[in-house]
Amino acid sequence: MALPENRYRKLFEPVQIGPVTAPNRFYQTPHATGMGWRAPRASAALREVKAEGGWGVVATEYCSIHPSSDDSPFAYLSLWDEDDVRALAVTAEAVHRHGSLLAVELWHGGFHTNNRMTREAALSPSGQRLKLLGPGSARAMDKADIRAFLGWQGAAAERAKRAGADIVYVYAGHDYLPLQFLSPRVNRRSDEYGGSTENRTRLIREMIEVTRQATGGACAVALRFAVDELHGAEGITFDGEARDIVSLLAELPDLWDVNLAGALGNDSRSARFSEEGFQESYVAFVKSLTSKPVVGVGRFTSPETMLRQVREGVLDLIGAARPSIADPFLPVKIRDGRADEIRECIGCNICRAANNEAVPLRCTQNPTIGEEWRRGWHPQRIAGKASDRRILIVGGGPAGLEAALALGTRGYEVVLAEERRELGGRLLFEARLPGLSTWIRVRDHRQHMLSKLANVTIYRESRLTARDIVEFGADQVVLATGSRWRRDGIGVAGERPLSIASAASVATPDDLESLRDPILIYDDDNYFMGGALAEKLAREGRAVIYVTSQPIVSAWTQMTDEQYPVEARLVELGIDIRVGHVLAKVETDHAVFQTALSRESIAIAMGSLLLVTGHEPVDHLYTDLTARADAPPVTRIGDCLAPSHVADAVWSGHRFAREFDQPSIPPPRRERPQP
Ligand code: ADP
Ligand code: SF4
Repeated sequence: MALPENRYRKLFEPVQIGPVTAPNRFYQTPHATGMGWRAPRASAALREVKAEGGWGVVATEYCSIHPSSDDSPFAYLSLWDEDDVRALAVTAEAVHRHGSLLAVELWHGGFHTNNRMTREAALSPSGQRLKLLGPGSARAMDKADIRAFLGWQGAAAERAKRAGADIVYVYAGHDYLPLQFLSPRVNRRSDEYGGSTENRTRLIREMIEVTRQATGGACAVALRFAVDELHGAEGITFDGEARDIVSLLAELPDLWDVNLAGALGNDSRSARFSEEGFQESYVAFVKSLTSKPVVGVGRFTSPETMLRQVREGVLDLIGAARPSIADPFLPVKIRDGRADEIRECIGCNICRAANNEAVPLRCTQNPTIGEEWRRGWHPQRIAGKASDRRILIVGGGPAGLEAALALGTRGYEVVLAEERRELGGRLLFEARLPGLSTWIRVRDHRQHMLSKLANVTIYRESRLTARDIVEFGADQVVLATGSRWRRDGIGVAGERPLSIASAASVATPDDLESLRDPILIYDDDNYFMGGALAEKLAREGRAVIYVTSQPIVSAWTQMTDEQYPVEARLVELGIDIRVGHVLAKVETDHAVFQTALSRESIAIAMGSLLLVTGHEPVDHLYTDLTARADAPPVTRIGDCLAPSHVADAVWSGHRFAREFDQPSIPPPRRERPQP
């Protein structure tokens, strides 16, 4: 990539990493795709788009070195045999086609894997209960196990080299085996691999050596090290032992990839619980102790922050996982002076949910991620229009805006009508909730990009009726009119409409105007809304009781790695929390619950009941239009079709635009062996 003539030139300088040279400072750090060894073509297509988008280094997700590190049912890569070499080579070729380097994150999970598929005994430094709740314990490794383990690392490194890797990892992060050896919390050994800091670093030193030997100097050796386990004084801390560890190993790897550990979510905290660049204070010391290049992450989306971190010597390479998912073309856009077009990550962690649910990656901002091979979608390219049909989109929320942008980019003449003055739909409310202000970027990006398209016209403060729509005379109508929160109590646990006394004060997130204390929030939706409203109202000084049908607060936020911090925040705010209570009936001044376990009835007094349960589509226009013989073809997208989270609304709008005027749409491709 040629050096650009703009102020970000420094970000495009090549960086020597041991025997290889990264073409620029943009480094896509390892991140899960939910694809793993089962989907080599889909993985390769996803990584290729990153390389094409200008990431000088593209890393794989965790790649198991041996069957004793099996994270099933989650998707991980593996380098156990020659089939794996051939599969990974597809990704290497794809990344190399664009002049980028491929980094392979070799991995052993130790007591962090259950080995459910391989049924191998799990390994650990000193014997430990398995972390992932499954029954069983990992056995303590003896010297023969350590020798075997080093052999596996070497063999996998050699396979990685043959597959085409340029950088091979020693992975001592995220509570996995090498970090388990490093950590005084769980390494209780009394031999030369336990005790002093020097002893606990021994395994990593040996791993670096075998990796270097096995790759014969052809590949750079990266060390991924979690500088703080976030377990307090019991573990490694960035202002304590981490400095001794970095000093001891300083010049051994060719590259330091530094992050935080503890649970996986700690280094990819959502925007609700962290600012862009929040890791800077943790990792800044590393560069002063080594002459080797350093890469770190921090949900960077601002080129100014990137530039400052490089100039101030915090990092040499700008590491990114989520920003590269939200916009695989982020580097190219900075290079070409189009930084205003970057689709900034909003830090919602829907991408983490894909991993935690063991399904292919999805992203709120980037509807094409995960679809590169499955549906042939590309983040920057879309087919031109196939007809001159004029399209009317009703509703300017995430679905309507995305459909307008993608259809407009295809060249169609599009009119978007929105009832309100401001675009954004549901985001206008959701982005005002505590910690969610970044969510408005979903609207801002699309609004900005639409302002560049002369063929898209937006009418605000235009509430359309079925008659208006017919009179408008479009060739195709797209209803993106969203959804509203249910008032009848139907949710996850509540399957039927509730009995609600007519004098009871009952509200939903759509109408918070006349709430009376104490406010009883009933969360039977279990994503962010119930917890976020509890936080908002408590901060406003209201008396809040939070009740959920589930055993934990905001249960589905486990998938976005936010559940602990959400619950901790509600506890911190002194909110009265009741879990496992299913709403049975609502009287004028109290609500009656059944406890999930004992089915005992419990009455809780309330001023108002705030129901956060389920959604119903706002689709009356669809009913009206399909009943008329003079209406043009009409389609529903987003929440108007099937209410869900913002990521699904954006995807739905994008899908409509991709498939519009296509004569036939094949089902999504899946990878499976030929019979
Ligand atoms: P989605 O997430 O599917 O995009 P939203 O609820 O965020 O759904 O957005 C729906 C948008 O549609 C809102 O901004 C709402 O004001 C608008 N809308 C709903 N009904 C009409 C209508 N009849 N005419 C114009 N705009 C409408
Ligand atoms: Fe960022 Fe959310 Fe996309 Fe993840 S899903 S990359 S957090 S916008």
